[in-house]
Amino acid sequence: MVLISGPSGCGKSTIIQQLISDERVEFSVSATTRPIRDGEVSGKDYYFLTTKEFRAKVEEGAFIEYAEVYGNLYGTLRAPMEEAIAGGRVFLVEIDVQGALQLRALGEPGVYVFIAPPSFDELKRRLVGRGTESPEVLERRLKKAEDEYRERVKYDHVVINDDLERAVEEVRNLAGLQEGVS
Ligand code: 5GP
Repeated sequence: MVLISGPSGCGKSTIIQQLISDERVEFSVSATTRPIRDGEVSGKDYYFLTTKEFRAKVEEGAFIEYAEVYGNLYGTLRAPMEEAIAGGRVFLVEIDVQGALQLRALGEPGVYVFIAPPSFDELKRRLVGRGTESPEVLERRLKKAEDEYRERVKYDHVVINDDLERAVEEVRNLAGLQEGVS
């Protein structure tokens, strides 16, 4: 398992897009109760569930971990992870710091990677530029980004996303996915 966290706007999604073009990598599709955004596809970006459906899955023990983030529930599903690992593939999990630290506390083996923006000014610029969030949500995300940044020391590796290609290469190496090695 390769786990990736990082504040919103740090370029995490772009890095992940590049990593999952490798057929040895399987991306963990989380379940969430947050509303679907334009351009998102259910079953690809997330499994979008109602709170009732999500709670039922919690009861079934379907999640390895779950957490409330910005007032919505998010959870990592157990079954796809077990399948990928049994098949010898890299299971790529993208979750927030709370979830990552929960998995670590559970003793889940893996490579824990934190993606950091080059600076806070840059992060703010990217978040504002994205224009998908209301001022209140933006404020909350910036505050969370700052809190999360402090937790980076708890990860195995911190990758600074100042250059996309280099950052992708660094994560690839950490995941054991060097070019030409299979
Ligand atoms: P977004 O709503 O922007 O897609 O994601 C918001 C936050 O939820 C991100 O920090 C993301 O890492 C986190 N997240 C996504 N999936 C999961 C999950 O399965 N578990 C946990 N704990 N957090 C998640």
